[in-house]
Amino acid sequence: MLVRLLYASRAGDKLAATEIDAILTRSRAHNPQNGITGVLCYSGELFMQVLEGGRTEVNRLYAEIVRDTRHRDVVLLDYAEVPERRFAGWTMGRVNLSKVNPSLLLKYSERSTLDPYAMSGKVSLALLEELISTAAIIGRSEQGE
Ligand code: FAD
Repeated sequence: MLVRLLYASRAGDKLAATEIDAILTRSRAHNPQNGITGVLCYSGELFMQVLEGGRTEVNRLYAEIVRDTRHRDVVLLDYAEVPERRFAGWTMGRVNLSKVNPSLLLKYSERSTLDPYAMSGKVSLALLEELISTAAIIGRSEQGE
């Protein structure tokens, strides 16, 4: 059974680029082995991440992520059983949210700044999908790579 989980969090103070790279490296190594796909977005202040895969694997990983001291204020935005993956082609990509066109943010939110804490989970997911189809994705990595 497949599930899709979306959460947001605030990056820890002075999170170094090397720490982001360490998270991506760990994710690219660990996620495919466990059948987990998804996308990680990072703005310099905020993370948003979609995880898709088996319920046990996704729940286990989310429990680890919540405990991670490199971020805080982790909030579950959306969780659902799904018939198919939407992010199946990804192991883990990175979207630089600070480079996103403000008009795209305005399409989905009250202001042109990203605030997932003030958005519904469904709207956040729609925004993420549009980001993936329009915005620059850094560190794209196809499944199985
Ligand atoms: P350990 O390596 O024992 O880590 C224990 C704790 O030490 C971590 O929780 C963290 O607080 C800290 N830590 C570990 N490495 C570092 C480091 N290089 N620098 C500073 N502190 C460190 N992991 C995945 O496998 N897949 C993902 O998709 C994924 N997404 C993540 C998204 C975000 C926003 C964050 C912050 C982390 C993500 N992680 C992901 C990492 C995950 O939270 C755990 O660190 C990882 O699962 C290993 O957990 P552990 O307790 O087994 O490892």
